[in-house]
Amino acid sequence: MEKRPFVTKEKLEEIAEQYPTPFHIYDEKGIRENAKKLKEAFAWNPGYKEYFAVKATPNPFILNILKEFGCGTDCSSETELMMADALGFSGGDIMFSSNDTPAEEFQFAHKIGAIINLDDITHIEYLEKAIGEIPETISCRYNPGGVFKISNDIMDNPGDSKYGMTTEQMFEAYKILKEKGAKHFGIHAFLASNTVTNEYYPLLAKILFELAVKLKEETGAHVKFINLSGGIGIPYRPDQEPNDIMAIGEGVRKAYEEILVPAGMDDVAIYTELGRYMLGPYGALVTRAIHEKHTHKEYVGVDACAVNLMRPAMYGAYHHVTVMGRENDPCDHKYDVVGSLCENNDKFAIDRMLPEIHKGDLLYIHDTGAHGFAMGYNYNGKLKSAELLLREDGSVEMIRRAETPKDYFATFDFCDILEDLI
Ligand SMILES: *Cc1c(COP(=O)(O)O)cnc(C)c1O
Repeated sequence: MEKRPFVTKEKLEEIAEQYPTPFHIYDEKGIRENAKKLKEAFAWNPGYKEYFAVKATPNPFILNILKEFGCGTDCSSETELMMADALGFSGGDIMFSSNDTPAEEFQFAHKIGAIINLDDITHIEYLEKAIGEIPETISCRYNPGGVFKISNDIMDNPGDSKYGMTTEQMFEAYKILKEKGAKHFGIHAFLASNTVTNEYYPLLAKILFELAVKLKEETGAHVKFINLSGGIGIPYRPDQEPNDIMAIGEGVRKAYEEILVPAGMDDVAIYTELGRYMLGPYGALVTRAIHEKHTHKEYVGVDACAVNLMRPAMYGAYHHVTVMGRENDPCDHKYDVVGSLCENNDKFAIDRMLPEIHKGDLLYIHDTGAHGFAMGYNYNGKLKSAELLLREDGSVEMIRRAETPKDYFATFDFCDILEDLI
């Protein structure tokens, strides 16, 4: 499928006059339409709730849009909890799916009434010590080990991942928690990431539903919700078929009716913690070509770098690139599109066939709406960009300003050594 920017070249040039490149821009219309569709796909389950994975796009303006669709937040740290709390997400609207969790973060999560999702059986004692009790509602994260396969395709490798409890530990944890006074239980698992297939959620649901039935039978625990977590992917590559969220919702419903309903568990709520699926396609990194370099390869140097988008450097991830205004030109030039870090993996594209790029061209890097800006860092003293929101009426709102050197030096404000810069 051809990948098209959600904004025109003319509009981007106009925006760039006010907000210099690079910047991330988000598409409010796309975010809203997608959130609405997700809700519809799971409307068959009265308790359904999406807890948006804040780490994907930790921006209060974005969270507020999702809130309108009944979304809660899935937080992984104290600052994310603070943001959710400040925006008025209350207790049951906040999931705390952390791991290797410090005691203070459990304390804060408990204070604001977040649902705590325990990553390990040893965290029961640790949590009890930290907050002085076991909450009435509590969730446990499951990791069956092995590899996660759909048909014969290996989707991911849970046996190699640090998250979650083994099957035996899940039973043990439920028993202990029940003895300590927990009344309502959740089950959570994240077994494959960025799946571009309609089968992941239904298969995961089947595994978790079967586990839920056994947990209930063996421990007598009331399973209140099953959290399918994140993992629904997006088509980063033009040849990938997007997921069909309605088919995914139906697949989960089928498993629900086959496994939970006959076991008398027809009151179980389905939760999700999607990040990438909610925001990925609805954000783009806009950057300008500022150099061309002809050495052993052909390079185009842009004004963004891995600080603005780390996925290519970190995972070798593919992000589609559109050269604005040259959409209809032949892709007959092979480029490495690079940033300015002193790191040879600072490349947005390697050996990519693109139209001829001229200095000054705007490049639109697709699908940066999730795990894009958020993963940024400050290596080489580079500053993070602004985030902009393209409103439905075509107006543009700044939803995060770009960092300035003052921000970069701010952590030296305890002394006068860099006084003039702060
Ligand atoms: C990262 C994460 C998510 C979101 O994952 P996506 O791939 O963005 O859907 C959800 N839950 C947990 C616990 C996570 O760590």
